[in-house]
Amino acid sequence: MRVADLTTPALLVDAGALEANLAAMATALPGPRLRPHVKAHKTTALAARQAAHGHHGFTCATVREVEGMAAAGLGDDLLLANEVLDARRLGAVVAAGARVTVAIDSPETLRAAVDGGVREVLIDVNIGLPRCGIAPDRAGALADDARAAGLSVRGVMGYEGHLQLLTDAAERARLTTECTDRLLAAHADVGGDVISGGGTGTHAYNTACTEIQAGSYALMDTAYTAAGLEFRQALTVLSTVISTTAPAGGMPGWAVADAGLKAFGMDHGNPAVPGADVWFCSDEHLTFAAATPPRTGDRVRVVPAHIDPTVALHERMYVIDGSADGGSRGSGAGDGIEDREVLDTWTVDLRGW
Ligand code: PLP
Ligand code: MN
Repeated sequence: MRVADLTTPALLVDAGALEANLAAMATALPGPRLRPHVKAHKTTALAARQAAHGHHGFTCATVREVEGMAAAGLGDDLLLANEVLDARRLGAVVAAGARVTVAIDSPETLRAAVDGGVREVLIDVNIGLPRCGIAPDRAGALADDARAAGLSVRGVMGYEGHLQLLTDAAERARLTTECTDRLLAAHADVGGDVISGGGTGTHAYNTACTEIQAGSYALMDTAYTAAGLEFRQALTVLSTVISTTAPAGGMPGWAVADAGLKAFGMDHGNPAVPGADVWFCSDEHLTFAAATPPRTGDRVRVVPAHIDPTVALHERMYVIDGSADGGSRGSGAGDGIEDREVLDTWTVDLRGW
């Protein structure tokens, strides 16, 4: 099968760019120093590639992701880095032989872990993002309560999500250190071997953490590229130009591709078409003006602004033959993409809740 045979819109993964990203991160954070976050790709076949690069513990965001990873034989050490009020399905995964640790930040989530049959927890600490996590000075007391309830407390986690996309790297580094200091203060009271945190944007600065929860680095998006992250764009959304309008009466021309709001996570803004100006997305349309106008029927590779919610909208991804420099910038129309061979089809099998 070749790219020309695919129905659009379709996720394309450039195998060369993906492998380069996995190798670069495995060099920066080898083995257990990285606990890849699977929510960014929701695909056990891709997680297996991360395991092949030496990472055998994974981070999950949903119960469904934990279940799917364990079912795929990737359940050596799964962290659900999120709060759960009904942990019975997690308990079932533990009973089936996988190792599952869940984040807790309250008496309610502590009780849910006990009742659900989960044995191991991390204390989730609020280190600056107004989301989940207990105040640093209350983390030790929650850990004491968890141990008294029979749970094993492996350590702490904290996520500085508000810093990930800061474009000023020096500022990102400075503020990450502030957040990590809050996590270390909590860890002094909690104890345990694990200090888990960070993401793609802060992975280089979180050196006090024992493990980093980065996910987007594997496939990447325009927001992280704009923040100066040097991983390559490995995922694009293949789409077909279904209509073109020539310039007329002082109005510039435009083209319309068949991938819109239902093909892209939009919270980081419009996706990008290399060499073109994206005007807007509708449900099933992307309207853009290109310096070299495409023709109706051309294939265009569109680059998502936010990788996680984009992937979650699709059922499968097609792995294409990626030469060493192919796809690094997510090429637009006329780049010969149609002739590339489809090497593999990966089901996005961790979707759903
Ligand atoms: N850890 C948690 C708890 C997250 O919610 C996220 C992403 O939102 C991450 C880590 C880092 O992910 P990424 O590398 O994709 O930014
Ligand atoms: Mn994200």
